[in-house]
Order: sequence, then C-alpha cells, then structure tokens
Amino acid sequence: MPSPDPIAVGRAVDARTDFAAALFETAREASRDVEGVTRPAWSDLDMAAARQVEAAARQLDLETSWDPAGNLLATLPGQDRSARRVLTGSHVDSVPRGGNYDGHAGVLASLTALAAFRDLGWTPPCDITAIAMHGEESVWFGTAYLGSKLACGTLPDGDLDRLRRADTGQTLAECIAGCGFDVAALRAAKPWIDASNTKAFLELHIEQGPLLIDADQPVAIPTAIRGNVRFPDAHCLGRYDHSAACPRAWRQDTALATAELISRLEAWWIEQEQAGVPDTVFTVGKLFTDAAEHAMTKVPGRMDFTLNFGGTTNDFLETSAVRIAELAAEIAARRDVRFELGGRVGSRPTPLDPGLRAALIAAAEAQGMQPQEFATVGHDTAVFAGVGIPGAMVLVRNTNGSHNPHEAMAIEDFMAGTRTMAAAIAAVAG
Ligand SMILES: [Zn+2]
Repeated sequence: MPSPDPIAVGRAVDARTDFAAALFETAREASRDVEGVTRPAWSDLDMAAARQVEAAARQLDLETSWDPAGNLLATLPGQDRSARRVLTGSHVDSVPRGGNYDGHAGVLASLTALAAFRDLGWTPPCDITAIAMHGEESVWFGTAYLGSKLACGTLPDGDLDRLRRADTGQTLAECIAGCGFDVAALRAAKPWIDASNTKAFLELHIEQGPLLIDADQPVAIPTAIRGNVRFPDAHCLGRYDHSAACPRAWRQDTALATAELISRLEAWWIEQEQAGVPDTVFTVGKLFTDAAEHAMTKVPGRMDFTLNFGGTTNDFLETSAVRIAELAAEIAARRDVRFELGGRVGSRPTPLDPGLRAALIAAAEAQGMQPQEFATVGHDTAVFAGVGIPGAMVLVRNTNGSHNPHEAMAIEDFMAGTRTMAAAIAAVAG
C-alpha cells in the first residue's frame, strides 16, 4: 500500500480538527489551576492527561501500552511489525500554572496524525507509535527529560532514588511506583527505545519565542536544538565600604565589576552575531547583592550571579567559556576584586536530522506553507537524538511566550503543524 500523498494526509488531518480541539479542552478542564494548567510529572493530574490520550487512542482502535516509566504508547500497527518504527510525541507534564500547549500540543498532534491515517485506511509499512511522556519540565525533580531519558536508558544510575520531589521529599522511584508502575521492572529494564527499534523521532512543539509571529507564518522546521554553557553559581568578591567615605581608587566594588563583566560579554555576543555566528543567546538570569548585608550606603562587597550562553555550535560555546574567563581575569585585576565562577554545567547542541528536516519542509511546502527555519530550545527530541535516533521537530506559532498561563496557539496553526508532521511521517514510514 503506497503512502498517502501530502495533500490527502493534510485533508484527513484537517477533518480531525474538532477531535483535536476537544482533547485540548478535556485536558485543560482536568488540570485547570487558578490560572492556566498544572500537571507536575507523575502527579494525578499528569497521569489523568495521559489517560485521556489513552482513551482517545483506544477509540481509534490503536494498540495502547504503558512503558515501565509510565510513558503512554499508542501504536498504529504496520505491515511488518518487526521493522523499525517511527516514533512521534512529546510530554504531558507542565510547569505550575503553565499553558495547556507546551508539550501537550505534541502529544495531541501525534494522536491526530494517527487518527488521520486510520481515517485514510492506511496500513503503514512499519509501526507508527505516538508517545506521551512525563518529566520533561520536571519541576518537582529539577532534572529535565526524565521520561525520555528513562526510555532511552540515559538517566544516570541512582537518579531514581537520588531525585526527590521538592515538596514532599518522595523519590522519583516512589512517585513512579505511586502511579502504579513496577519500579523493580523499571530498574531491571534495558533501554526500550533505541536506534535498533526506532528509525525516527518527530516532535511537534509550540514555539516559545516570537519568531513565527514576526514572520507571520504558522510553522517552522528547526535547524538544531541549542546547547549551552552555564555558570549557575558565580560570585564576585570584593570589600564592603562606606559609600560616601571611600574614594574610587580604594574601592573593591563588586557591583561595578560584575556590571562591566556582563556588559562586555554582551558586546562580545553582539560581535559574534555580527560575524555571522547563528542562533546565539546570552542571559544573566540572576544578579544580586547580598540582602543580608547590602545597603544603599555601602559599596557592595559581594555579588552573586549566573551566566548562560546558548548556541548551536560547540565552537561558540567553548569560545564563550574562554571569553568569560579572560574578561573576568582582566576586570578582577583592574578593579581589585575576585571572580569565583563556580562549577560549569551545560549541554551540547543537538543537530536535527537533515533527511527528516527535508521531509518536513517538503511536506509543508507541498501543502502551500512556507516553513521558517531557526534553532530551538531543549526538548525531548534531544534525548532521542543523543542515542542515535534521527530526530526532527515542527514548531507552531504561539503568542505570549511559554511557561505561563497565557500561551496562545490558534487551532488552525496547530492543524497546519500537524498536517506537516503527519505528511512527513507518512513519507518517512513509507
Ligand atoms: Zn515542552
């Protein structure tokens, strides 16, 4: 049976608009908070959202199962059940009082694509599986991508017992067991999603920045997932002095030293952009004097801050780290302060698969869209790509940013993204 063409897939997806819209509303109702929705990973609310997806999948006569970590799988069986499958999906959990679309849009897009394939009466050559995962946001546990890492076997040993719910102190293992999953089996399980059984992972996600609104387009096919180099616990140490009595030459002013470091890093970032380095970001998310000691009339003797560079090349990230150290040393010597940058953390950039990206772009163009291309932020796709499963994404226009209750994605834009992803899945599976 040949794969349905993009136009046929697009029409079948569009015919499922009410189906998708109703599922968004069911999820919103079940996890409604004072504002927005709250679905902490492996909470009752998070599991309820996954169970709604399970019920809808059963109505479509898809095969449903739960993996040992509690991720939901819904499969449209292929002709060759042993062939490597196409996997598609995202996460159901949310930040507290978040929007209804971050993550869940990807879950519902994958289910809507399978509904469209059912409606077309298409039996694909290989299984196509939708997955609804937990713990991408992971606000309780402080470590992202828990569900996909458990599936791919990349969660470090011991994290099931080391990571604890911030509010109750329960371990991750206890929380998963509390949802009715067999943690002994989870501990014994080998990674159950890998490149030997999965040939592609495709994820739709809302855009969490402003670029699609600016471009007046519904859909982007991202080029890469940014990596980052971060100093989460940096300090500048100097000396507290009387603000009126101490002349400039005697000061060891950490506020001015840190302000200079930041503004020179910003200048360097702009230089890199102007030199053509693509898709870079720089953020100082925390910057403060010590509230226990600071005063308007004191020269500040201590500043605490964070530094966070993101980019799509290792070269940019490594050069950023070197530049931070060089500037800190130079400024410290001149201003008689000491920078303690603390531990460095971060992640490598994840290039998205060129073949899958081309399939997505072709699918969008065949349906009359002009997909945008730019880098995106960390998503579950990075975990699958990290174990050698080719991955790519579709971003959908969304107003008001993300991780807040005001996320706003038009259902028409969601359908445009889902048409794109479904047509690419049909091409890739075929
Ligand atoms: Zn997300």
